[in-house]
Amino acid sequence: MNSKTPNPPRRKLHIVTHGCQMNVYDSARMADVLAPLGYAPVDSPAGADMVIMNTCHIRERAADKMFSALGRLRVLKEDTGGKMLIAVTGCVAQAEGEVILKRAPYVDLVVGPQAYHRLPELIAAAHRTNNSVIDTEFPVEQKFDFLPDAAAPQGVIANLTIQEGCDKFCSFCVVPYTRGAESSRPAASILAEARRMVAQGTREIALLGQNVNAYHGAGPDGGVWSLAMLLQELAEIPNLLRLRYTTSHPSDMTDELIMAHRDNPALMPYLHLPVQSGSDKILAAMNRKHTADDFRRIVEKLRNARPDIAFTSDFIIGHPGETEADFQATMALVRETGFALAYSFNYSPRPGTPAAGLPQIPAGEKDARLYALQAELRRQQDAFNASTVGLTTPVLFTGAGRYPGQIAGRSLYAQPVVVEAPAPLTGEIRQVTITHANPNSLLGTINGHSTQETIAA
Ligand code: SF4
Repeated sequence: MNSKTPNPPRRKLHIVTHGCQMNVYDSARMADVLAPLGYAPVDSPAGADMVIMNTCHIRERAADKMFSALGRLRVLKEDTGGKMLIAVTGCVAQAEGEVILKRAPYVDLVVGPQAYHRLPELIAAAHRTNNSVIDTEFPVEQKFDFLPDAAAPQGVIANLTIQEGCDKFCSFCVVPYTRGAESSRPAASILAEARRMVAQGTREIALLGQNVNAYHGAGPDGGVWSLAMLLQELAEIPNLLRLRYTTSHPSDMTDELIMAHRDNPALMPYLHLPVQSGSDKILAAMNRKHTADDFRRIVEKLRNARPDIAFTSDFIIGHPGETEADFQATMALVRETGFALAYSFNYSPRPGTPAAGLPQIPAGEKDARLYALQAELRRQQDAFNASTVGLTTPVLFTGAGRYPGQIAGRSLYAQPVVVEAPAPLTGEIRQVTITHANPNSLLGTINGHSTQETIAA
């Protein structure tokens, strides 16, 4: 900024983020878009100049909860004499659009996930017209082209969105309606952003996308790059030590990508691969485009390619039409596969999705099945964590632990690991012998200074 350009007035920005890592990434990018206007993040909405509620439609009764939260914000807005700007963004903004402005006319901006780069002009329009502004268009490429890269250092472990939207139309999911068609960011801009992140201290990057393994971005060579090709190029960046990607669809798990798990040493042996159900009948009803055996074959191929790989997954219990036999097929698949971690939910209808209008499974039945599934998944998670005790494994350190003298890091399997050490070792990898497994973290002792990314059991 030259000496004649006045600094923008300082303004307080509070962002509330619900939902997935992509929303977390988007919230950070919105803060970056607004920084040149003088907006700086604050922890509380009270007295803020602008509050953004970045919403998630996956949550049960997401719209109802959002309207309750907006009611509370309305009181805070009145405390500022009506000056506070309230923006609703994310998937509920996309899905509910005009309804939000009708039910909560004190909301100033409703902005869909593809229009965040236009926030400055939308804010100006709201001020100029003294009216609410809505932008829920789907100009996907523009968002990727115009959102600024991360301004602030992202930390040792960081996310990078490479793909958005989905063409799969699973019966239970709103993503194809709220995030639009599949769209991949050009490889060159991803590589440039990754290089900048590494220069600022990032050592592990998780590539994000609603259907990340469907990635097919324009390559700098004029061709179309697959996720495996992109991962290979990212692995060449000096000091970028670890790579992950999420969320994947089994149908897009190509042999090329499976072989990347064998051949790309930066790729962590840990894959989130949602299967949702073990029943072919329910998978067909869900429009998942794969069978339970397809999933088994993919898991087997990945285990052959990378024997130390571990899996996490998602399950939806009580989809319309699910019988006890269908549920038992899910339990069988869970027992056979063995998961390091999994997320499981009762099916709940999302307005506008195909399964929402079908006869629903009684809540009590769904709850009983979910309880049984979660008990088995918890047992598997505990067993997985316990199996690491006594192993020596590389840990990427991220900074201080909770208590004095402790430092914290992540294992190959993204488990938090805590050790006692005199120096923080931030951004460095050390071999750690695991001494104890807690339900959600591991304790260990540093053992040598190797940076080799393999388990030496
Ligand atoms: S593949 Fe994933 S994002 Fe796409 S519709 Fe299915 S659940 Fe939703």
